[in-house]
Amino acid sequence: MKKEEQKKTNTDRSRLAFLSDVKTRLVKEYNSISARIGSMISKGKGLWEEHGTKDEENAAEVNEYQNRLALEKNLEKAKGEIEEAIKKVEAGTYGVCQECGKPIEAERLKVLPSATSCIACIKNSRQK
Ligand SMILES: [Zn+2]
Repeated sequence: MKKEEQKKTNTDRSRLAFLSDVKTRLVKEYNSISARIGSMISKGKGLWEEHGTKDEENAAEVNEYQNRLALEKNLEKAKGEIEEAIKKVEAGTYGVCQECGKPIEAERLKVLPSATSCIACIKNSRQK
């Protein structure tokens, strides 16, 4: 085997190890978010039905309901992003910035495995 080929194989191997590690983390996160959403929905139902007819109580209820809805929305969004990231790992397109098409920094992916854009593009979009 030539030196160059050897090097490439090693890179591929570490990349594969990295991807399988990322996938494990993503699946774990996906499951934990799904569980949180599930428990929120089942708790939410109970709370919403239980409470009485007084206006004041209802106002507090509505407030709480809206807060929970916002949180639930965030969780659903995160869940969607994680799902996308898992699909990308499987399709072999994981870790590519959706804005500029360049590889996303490994350091960034370690911190945020579901990241879809590189640091430069995030900075650009913040400046807009
Ligand atoms: Zn980018």
